[in-house]
Amino acid sequence: MAEYKRPTTEAEFKKNFKQKKPLMNDTEAYYEASRCLFCYDAPCVQACPTHIDIPLFIKQIHTDNVTGASKTIFDSNWLGNACGVVCPTGVLCEGACVYNHQDVPPIQIGRLQNFATNKVIDAEKVIFKIGASNGKKIAIIGAGPAGIACACEARTLGYEVDIFEAKEIPTGLTVHGIAPYKITNEEVLKEVAFLQNQLQFNIKYNSPIISKKDINHLEESYDAIFVGVGLGKTATLSLEGEDKEGVVGAVEFIEELRMKQHQVKIPAKVVVIGGGNTAMDAASESARMGARKTVLAYRNSKTKMGAYGFEYDLAISAGVDSLFNVTPIAIVGNGKVEGVKFAKTEMVEGKLKTNMNNTFIVRCDLVIKATGQAKQGHLYKLIDDLAIDKKTRIITNNEFQTSNPKYFAGGDAINGGAEVVNAAYDGKMAAQGIHNWLNK
Ligand code: SF4
Repeated sequence: MAEYKRPTTEAEFKKNFKQKKPLMNDTEAYYEASRCLFCYDAPCVQACPTHIDIPLFIKQIHTDNVTGASKTIFDSNWLGNACGVVCPTGVLCEGACVYNHQDVPPIQIGRLQNFATNKVIDAEKVIFKIGASNGKKIAIIGAGPAGIACACEARTLGYEVDIFEAKEIPTGLTVHGIAPYKITNEEVLKEVAFLQNQLQFNIKYNSPIISKKDINHLEESYDAIFVGVGLGKTATLSLEGEDKEGVVGAVEFIEELRMKQHQVKIPAKVVVIGGGNTAMDAASESARMGARKTVLAYRNSKTKMGAYGFEYDLAISAGVDSLFNVTPIAIVGNGKVEGVKFAKTEMVEGKLKTNMNNTFIVRCDLVIKATGQAKQGHLYKLIDDLAIDKKTRIITNNEFQTSNPKYFAGGDAINGGAEVVNAAYDGKMAAQGIHNWLNK
């Protein structure tokens, strides 16, 4: 179990948040590529949400055609570099690699992908072509992975594209919501700059779409609109004492850490509430920031957690403790957080019940809530005839078109929160959907 010293400088922060998947060098990439069996009907391709031709790009790396390999990757996934690092490859492409059946380590597809794309990005190689102008314009709400992918694809089809982004930098969750030991801000921003330089789409920063007037303006000025907004702030738990100083949302915590790095001060004892991947990230980050004790608390059993097993293992290896079958019933303290009062939970006739006769307090100075994020329902209400489901997700057809034909949507807005790679796929396919609709 690792024990981390509180980082006080940028160098110490980088050491504690050393990347999980460092870049391969040329020799490592060559030998790793030589292991690939170039399977017919490759299961790794089927498991990739963007269906990258994995055996082809690995062969291209092996024959020293790194530019061709990058083209193969970006042709399927506009965020090919970021996805090589942040994708849960162990449950996607690498999890499907045939080597798993032979008790041999699978091909390191993510790292090979990252090796190839990083080379062309660093060399600023021109590999994309803008389509001949068709005189039509698309507005995109949100410069997250879905919005960026939609913009890139639309530019290759000849559309003018303006992205309206609420924040001052692009890529949404990829910068703001992903742990820094997975990908750095510089890497994410470098890929977007690479795409934007070649494909020339506009990003209007600090331009949130928040009123009916904003929506009317988009509808009057553009031929189609893509909604690629992510999720909102951490949802409230309605707990007694939740408003005390020292209770924060996981997404806000991770965002602050990414932006301010070693300048963020983490107190000695931290409780993280939740059992998803965001909870694992927040707990792992708290431990890496030097918290003496970080406790992860989940209301059900370990097997019921939404987080991937490897994310949980990573948190535990960083020094995080876990508590299962506990639910928070109050935040205690006098103005400031001093602890969380939990009640034990148990399964009774297939239902999870809280036992209020079995309660206890875990002392802490910071509570991080990783219990889900609010949806952007306020935005959806501004759009006429937009159908949303019971979980406030926009409903789309196979072409990513919504019930209001001028609007298309993808990413978190339609799936309620998934991986960057899912958003990248949706954005690309939505641009094709828009193209099909406008050319009907
Ligand atoms: Fe190569 Fe594994 Fe994919 Fe087969 S399944 S093509 S060995 S990466």
